[in-house]
Amino acid sequence: MLWAAANPWLSEHVPQWGFVRRAVKRFMPGEDFDAAKHEALGLCPICQKGQVYVLDRAYACENAVSKEKTCTFRISKNILHREIPVEQVQKLITTGKTDLLPKFVSKKGRPFSAHLKLENGKVGFEFAERKPKKSAPRKAVAA
Ligand SMILES: [Zn+2]
Repeated sequence: MLWAAANPWLSEHVPQWGFVRRAVKRFMPGEDFDAAKHEALGLCPICQKGQVYVLDRAYACENAVSKEKTCTFRISKNILHREIPVEQVQKLITTGKTDLLPKFVSKKGRPFSAHLKLENGKVGFEFAERKPKKSAPRKAVAA
């Protein structure tokens, strides 16, 4: 990890899947699941069979909380000190990505913004791109 030591900013901001997975796991204790008690948000984007439910501390596919886990879709309601609102989870399951969410706090206490997105059946971060501002073309179309 020499490169990380030399680039503390990078070590904090480059997406690290292992870290994300651990973070998700940490916030995902086992929960008993009873579909009747929970609100359904929509079809699970991973297994395409189960519904995603709002649990006490997480959003999860019914197939990820059943006894035989046939799906892996689970997202904590609170990731890195930030609450993940229902509408963003809905967006995630319908479009594969949330809006840019500010106010995550890294393990080193630094705030950052990121999208949550689905990739290869996992939920991870997509960090805000630092691209130069470009003004949208607003030319009137000549008739
Ligand atoms: Zn599922």
